[in-house]
Amino acid sequence: MTANTNLLESLKLWSRTNSLWAVHFNSGSCNGCDIEILATLIPRYDVERFGIKLQGSPRHADILICTGPVTRQARDRLLRVYEQMPAPKFVMAIGACAISGGVFQGCYNVLGHLDEVIPVDVYVPGCPPRPEAIIHGVVKLLEALRAPHEEVIHA
Ligand code: SF4
Repeated sequence: MTANTNLLESLKLWSRTNSLWAVHFNSGSCNGCDIEILATLIPRYDVERFGIKLQGSPRHADILICTGPVTRQARDRLLRVYEQMPAPKFVMAIGACAISGGVFQGCYNVLGHLDEVIPVDVYVPGCPPRPEAIIHGVVKLLEALRAPHEEVIHA
């Protein structure tokens, strides 16, 4: 690699890790995890200090923050949202239901957990996880982006 290519890669990494934009998708959650995500975004917890901003369109988002198990009704929409995101893209599974199906395992309308449908980069356990746990997951993702050999993160 030339010095200019190195500089360009460093600049891309710096800008990516300082301005991750997120889109939120509820694939079947009871809304408990969604409330905690909203709490994480308020000034008290202030994830904007990490450059993270909630974004309405998946076309402008770097992270998909997903809550709940994946229901039969939500699967196609989840895939459409994920496919619309530009690469490189990252997925956070928030809460026990997104990780394992949680209390909704075995329900007639539930297909399964998130990583059965799309690849997941960060798992944040809890029912629901507190804002501190979600922020911890974000920090772990940022650390992994800066150290490219880590793949799956358990926050
Ligand atoms: S992990 Fe708990 S709070 Fe979150 S969607 Fe499942 S039941 Fe609701």
